[in-house]
Formats: sequence, C-alpha cells, structure tokens
Amino acid sequence: MRKKVIAGNWKMNNDISQTTELINGLKAVLSSSTKAIVIVCPPFTSLGVAQQLLANSDIKLGAQDVSLYDSGAYTGEVSVAMLKSVGCSYVIVGHSERRQYHHETNEIINQKAKKVLAGGLIPIICIGETLEEREKNITNQVLTTQVKGVLAGLPASDVEKSIVAYEPVWAIGTGKTASKEQAEEAHQVIRNVIAQLYSASTADKVVIQYGGSVKADNAKELLSQPDIDGALVGGACLKADSFSAIISAA
Ligand code: PEP
Repeated sequence: MRKKVIAGNWKMNNDISQTTELINGLKAVLSSSTKAIVIVCPPFTSLGVAQQLLANSDIKLGAQDVSLYDSGAYTGEVSVAMLKSVGCSYVIVGHSERRQYHHETNEIINQKAKKVLAGGLIPIICIGETLEEREKNITNQVLTTQVKGVLAGLPASDVEKSIVAYEPVWAIGTGKTASKEQAEEAHQVIRNVIAQLYSASTADKVVIQYGGSVKADNAKELLSQPDIDGALVGGACLKADSFSAIISAA
C-alpha cells in the first residue's frame, strides 16, 4: 500500500522570517494524526533555519534542485552532500521551471536523480507535457519518453524508492488543473511504462504525485484516484492553512 506524499515547493519565496512564520504556522495547524508524508522544499537560503524549526517534527525537508557535481568550481551550485548536511531527505529534480529556464534535459535530470540516490536521498523526479503537446495528442508518447529518459540505468531498487511527479506544464501556476480523469490516465501511463521497464511489482511501489494548481478544493478528488499517490504543490503551499487543507484531503 503506497503512502500519500504531499510536498510543498516554495520556489523563490520566503526569506528567513517568512520561513519561520510559515513553518511555525504549519506545525501549529498540522494534526498529529496526519497519515501522509509531508515535505517542505524551501529555497537553499532557508534550509538551515527550516532544519532547526523542524527538529522535533514529522515534516520532512527537501531541496528544489541539486548540482550534478560533488564539489569544486561550480559557482552558485549546491551538492547532494551539502543538502544532506542541512537535513534534506528529498530533492526535487527536473521541475518544468528548471527545464524551461535552465535547459535541463531528461539526461541531466537522470544524472541528478542518480546523484541524489547515491547520496541516500530521495529524488522527486518531475515530468509532464506542455499544452502544445497535449493539444497535438502526444501526451502519452511524451510521458513515455520522459519516464524512460529520467529513469535510464536506475536499478529497480532505486526506482522503487523514488517519487515521480506528474506535472502537466500547462497546469503549473496557471490555476488550470488537470481533471481527475486526465490526471489518472497520465498516472496510469507512467505506471505502465515503469511496469514494462521493470516489473508490475516495482511499478506498484512507485509513488506518483500529481502537481499543477492543486488547491484545497480540488485536492480530494485528485487524491482519491487510485494511481495518484500525493501532490506536489506550488502556490497553495505558501499559506499554512491551504497547505494543511491539502494534507487533510490526503
Ligand atoms: C509546482 O510548482 O510544482 C506547482 C505544481 O505549482 P502550482 O501548484 O502553483 O501550480
């Protein structure tokens, strides 16, 4: 039985005092009976304070990206070991904004996922089609290519630990959400590709999150679909109340 995993991607939001306010707010509203795994992914600058604030909490810490390299002359980059040292156990890789603004390809995302796993952390590997691809009716092909590319060379044991986030690009930050049918269909395609590449048992273990304008009022119907195992949340994770409402829906 897969656990539901709800992750909040803060993107480039929240300085230290806003981080403190949001995490304290979340700790105050989250019920101790929450069964879902809850992850917050603040910007790099807030990871240290977030680690301290989350010290006695079940909320897990994640980063929004990581370097391909271990150390050295890579100005502006942060390694897996550095993220580990600041308490991260998850790392988002291949978010569509990294693909769009930083030209990250499936190959780069695959290498980042491998780095994250080799360091003992869990990658949240993002894939998803653009509006143009959906309108051309090639969503399933695009997802198949992305799954094969981002998982290339990973052993089944690593795939089973990883999280895949299906994030249709047209639904991210736009207020447009995939319908529960569209999202469930895409999740089934992703799970079937994993089953073909590995086995039904591996596919059955992989947590596949949906992301794209998840809000308190649509979370329940999305999260009640059999292949939707959680949510990667952008805008709605920036307020303790709306994030906790999504967590409650899980
Ligand atoms: C995201 O950034 O991963 C995301 C899904 O954003 P939003 O929830 O704002 O669409």
